[in-house]
Amino acid sequence: MKDMSSKKNIAIIGGGPAASTLAILLSKKGYKVVIFATKEKAPILVGESLVPMIIPMLKDLGVEEEVASYSIYKPGACFTFDATEVFDFRFSDTPSDLPSYAYNVPRDKFNQTLLNAAIKAGARVVARKVELTVDEEGQIKLDDKSLQEASNYWDRNEPDLIVDSAGRANLIGRVLDIPMENGPRQDVALFAHVDQTELVDPGYVHNDRIKQGWCWRIPLPGRVSFGFVVPENYALKHGETAEQQYDNLLNKDAVLKQLAPNAKRVTEVLRFKNYQSISDKLCGKKWVMLGDSGGFIDPVFSSGMLLAMDSAYKLAEVLEQDKPLSDYEDIIKQHLQAWFEIVSYYYNGRLMTAIKVGDSLEDNWFNRILTPWISGHVSRIFSGAAGSKGFSLSLLRFLVKYGLKDRKPDYYKIK
Ligand SMILES: Cc1cc2nc3c(=O)[nH]c(=O)nc-3n(C[C@H](O)[C@H](O)[C@H](O)COP(=O)(O)OP(=O)(O)OC[C@H]3O[C@@H](n4cnc5c(N)ncnc54)[C@H](O)[C@@H]3O)c2cc1C
Repeated sequence: MKDMSSKKNIAIIGGGPAASTLAILLSKKGYKVVIFATKEKAPILVGESLVPMIIPMLKDLGVEEEVASYSIYKPGACFTFDATEVFDFRFSDTPSDLPSYAYNVPRDKFNQTLLNAAIKAGARVVARKVELTVDEEGQIKLDDKSLQEASNYWDRNEPDLIVDSAGRANLIGRVLDIPMENGPRQDVALFAHVDQTELVDPGYVHNDRIKQGWCWRIPLPGRVSFGFVVPENYALKHGETAEQQYDNLLNKDAVLKQLAPNAKRVTEVLRFKNYQSISDKLCGKKWVMLGDSGGFIDPVFSSGMLLAMDSAYKLAEVLEQDKPLSDYEDIIKQHLQAWFEIVSYYYNGRLMTAIKVGDSLEDNWFNRILTPWISGHVSRIFSGAAGSKGFSLSLLRFLVKYGLKDRKPDYYKIK
């Protein structure tokens, strides 16, 4: 049985990348799409480091040129352990079916580019914070004012489908009390922009292990996004407020101090927690969750924006082919679970240990063939492709289990 009988009037809540991508795709197919995007704006937004697998989507949506005009070209990613040992991944060294670059984007501009493209494609934007309720039959409802604002655009009073792409607000999950599956890490991410830091490779996203946890540096025009991902109890030792925790860590942690000795913070600090989670359900009668509202895994491999935009493509395809929404749910859950697994191999040290073993294999003809083949699959993690490539993931699973030789993964573990 199909989850919905008609598919023409669509309410999309949230003005982020997931919402706008879906709006562009559906509007181009003739759907009547209304995006409800709240006017409230956070001072800075996470999600600035894109992975190469987003590039084909930017091209398809017709926005790459505009995004490139205000972003930093990103040729790769590097991961540093103990300030000396650097794992450098250049996207142009990855297999030829993968895009060879990405961008670091100022998120406010990126959101606006996608939203403008949605409007150009025919979507209507209503600047409004939506409130949801559930009626006696268990049906999700938009508040009256939102319905009123959209009604002259739709050809019915109610939408045929409500898409929750309001990000971590997880509107439908909260109103229906849907449980979340949580990951093992109890980290907080402290996020701000600073004026300067030295980089190993220009344009690269930099990941450095610190005393407890790790930090990211994402070069942006005129500034650097500098974020710390640390266990919650470790953050609490450095103060109560997000600002205290951030500034104290920056001044006291040996690695952070070394990475940005003269850095000046130029924004306020945002704090995120409880983000490793997947909603038990992603769809129901006339509703569906898209992007972060359905789950977010971890910032470490910059997979969030890819998953958000890719899930819009998957949902558009399911709607267009009039398939049940549960088909969409199955694919997205698979991808989220795959990233849960990949990310766990970073935190437990097994991924870097396996890469190290691969780099140190004896030089013989067999290894000369095997090693590039394996590293091609491993590199799919950094380009974003591994989460949807079953074979690469199975190979990775095998490597981290049986391919560590006698090396102990603890050396690369993240506390
Ligand atoms: C610490 C951290 C670091 C990250 N770093 C990266 C990274 O470097 N690279 C990467 O790819 N991903 C990263 N991510 C993930 C990335 O930010 C998200 O996956 C991505 O933003 C999800 O897009 P979205 O459209 O689903 O949600 P969002 O971008 O959160 O957009 C949701 C929108 O809905 C709006 N909204 C909320 N409630 C309502 C309402 N009631 N009515 C109307 N509108 C509403 C919000 O204002 C917002 O604009 C990071 C995440 C975290 C937590």
